[in-house]
Amino acid sequence: TKHLVWLRNDLRLEDNPALYLASQQGDIRVVITATPEQWIAHNESPAKTGLRAAFITTLGHALAAQGIPLDILEVDTFQSVAPALEKFCLAEGVRHIWFNQDIPPHELQRDNSVKQTLQSHDIQVNKLASDLFVPQDVLSQQGTPFKVFTPFFKRWSMLLSSQEHSPYPAPSKQAEALNFSWSPPSWVRSAAPSFREDLWPADYDIIRQRLWHFCHTKEEHYDNDRNYPIKPATSTLSPYLALGALGPRQCLEAIHYVCEQNDRLWQESIWLKELAWRDFYRQLMGHFSFLAKHRPFKAETDKIQWRDNQAEFEAWCEGRTGFPIVDAAMRQLNQTGWMHNRLRMISASFFTKLLFADWRKGEAYFMSKLIDGEFAANNGGWQWSASTGCDAAPYFRVFNPTRQSETYDKDGDFIRRFVPELEPLEAKAIHNPSSEQRARCAYPEPIIDYKPARAQAIDAFSALNK
Ligand code: FAD
Repeated sequence: TKHLVWLRNDLRLEDNPALYLASQQGDIRVVITATPEQWIAHNESPAKTGLRAAFITTLGHALAAQGIPLDILEVDTFQSVAPALEKFCLAEGVRHIWFNQDIPPHELQRDNSVKQTLQSHDIQVNKLASDLFVPQDVLSQQGTPFKVFTPFFKRWSMLLSSQEHSPYPAPSKQAEALNFSWSPPSWVRSAAPSFREDLWPADYDIIRQRLWHFCHTKEEHYDNDRNYPIKPATSTLSPYLALGALGPRQCLEAIHYVCEQNDRLWQESIWLKELAWRDFYRQLMGHFSFLAKHRPFKAETDKIQWRDNQAEFEAWCEGRTGFPIVDAAMRQLNQTGWMHNRLRMISASFFTKLLFADWRKGEAYFMSKLIDGEFAANNGGWQWSASTGCDAAPYFRVFNPTRQSETYDKDGDFIRRFVPELEPLEAKAIHNPSSEQRARCAYPEPIIDYKPARAQAIDAFSALNK
């Protein structure tokens, strides 16, 4: 076979430009380069690696059913990818390689090295855009990147309205079904399953059902309900989007369909806006590669002396800060690999503003646990919360965890689910129990005092502007 498709963060058959366009040229084979040491170096969580391995299996079987062989080249880091692909292509007589663009700088470096190596053997390299846009597509009238979301979104939706974005079909059957066998190697084997298969099965039919069910029944109420962690009101598709098991055009197709059915303008869908946030952070990463080097968007914020108390850090990680909503959030993350968006904001704001801890430490902890860990979105979310990012929360906006809890978990049901020791408390008490109630429930006292902690953070930020 002369055409090789190299899959990376796009582990799907449908809506996969590289896979589809290559298959239009003739018979194809597919390769995945597994780089377990690189994933560890990138702080990828065991949950995400586990889900990735599960999708490699699912994808291998799905491709085999179409008569398309899948090879897995196991190497260590990104640096070993180019020589491994070179060896494979030369041995198999590959003349064309196809892959979809990745955005973070380290991935770009890997791809450039593959491109150079293969081109030196006259192998044609076809790099495609699998996102809705590449960073260079959505620019201001001056041709510069947007640093503020609202104008970015305006331009993004205008471009979206004027272009065709139907998902690419899956490649058609090219031969009799093959046998696919791949026993997960050591980097995915562990005593306990590394991810919650019950919550995120590696199954394309289930993803499709979840997407369409969400769009048919919940998308319309998303704006009202999305902030309440107890409600199953968001799509929970993020782990699939992060691994590319689901593509953005597939999401767009479902939004288009349901909005048309309900006589609504799809451009006004609030859920669509979240997909735009995803693209916003990705384009920032594409334009400002220093973001991948642990640097804040606002350079002056690097002068801040974070307090960085180790005992407080550990209490936060383990969900025993004495702030019930923060603890419930962190326990949700630790137990499921996922956290509701409102809670990610509460927890990150608590970390950066009240514990006054370096956002990079919080970012890294999230990454090490999240099943949907995405460098751009996670970095964007943390820099937003820490007020170090572009278009971030203003520094004087410090979430009051107790007020947030009263507003978004009014009855305390979410807290009760993840902090069972507080179960006996009534809604009125559960957001900030008295000392006596804490002692009775064996629940810790708050590790910080909200008011002075808030004042300290605001002072430190305002000193930067003097
Ligand atoms: P829905 O509400 O159904 O949204 C649909 C999709 O849009 C999501 O699956 C996601 O792909 C995208 N999306 C939604 N909100 C955002 C956002 N604010 N920024 C970027 N994309 C968004 N999202 C990740 O995918 N990976 C991360 O590592 C990540 N880290 C975060 C860290 C912090 C501190 C914060 C505040 C947010 C982070 N987010 C991250 C964004 C958001 O919290 C999750 O995407 C969302 O909770 C996933 O749940 P869902 O699939 O039900 O989302």
